[in-house]
Amino acid sequence: MKALIVIDYTYDFVNGSLPVGEPAVAIENRIVELTEQFVANGDYTVMAVDLHEANDPYHPESKLFPPHNIRGTSGRELFGRLQNVYKQHETDIYWMDKTRYSAFAGTDLAIRLRARGITKVHLIGVCTDICVLHTAVDAYNLGFGITIHQDAVASFNAAGHDWALGHFESSLGAAVVTG
Ligand code: ZN
Repeated sequence: MKALIVIDYTYDFVNGSLPVGEPAVAIENRIVELTEQFVANGDYTVMAVDLHEANDPYHPESKLFPPHNIRGTSGRELFGRLQNVYKQHETDIYWMDKTRYSAFAGTDLAIRLRARGITKVHLIGVCTDICVLHTAVDAYNLGFGITIHQDAVASFNAAGHDWALGHFESSLGAAVVTG
């Protein structure tokens, strides 16, 4: 059994307060296509979405990044057509708030995957070398097989993106695939 984890594909990360920009806009169709495919196939599909509180002095990212994905703001909505897909299939897609880079950090994601007999996770979204990377590292440490869809991940850091794609394969044993 496999699951699709769609990571941080929100307005703030695509073209909002912490934007990846054009590389993130360019993967919209593929993100939508993969999400529709997994839902249609009955595979467990998760929207893992960064959540921050305004002016949170205790969050380490407050010192590292501009405010982003603040609770209740439009920047935290899913970007473009992904929002429509989510609305259409709301009962079949698990919306999961996360407060750290990894979708496994401080969430019940691993418990939910294991309960469903899922042994392989497919990761898409942004940023390749931050939240996708940290989620992949945790998936590796927890013993999940990993597939990264190269045509559905993006970063504002081209060198970091390329490095992470290599790391997924060479150190995490992931399948890095396209199409
Ligand atoms: Zn964040």
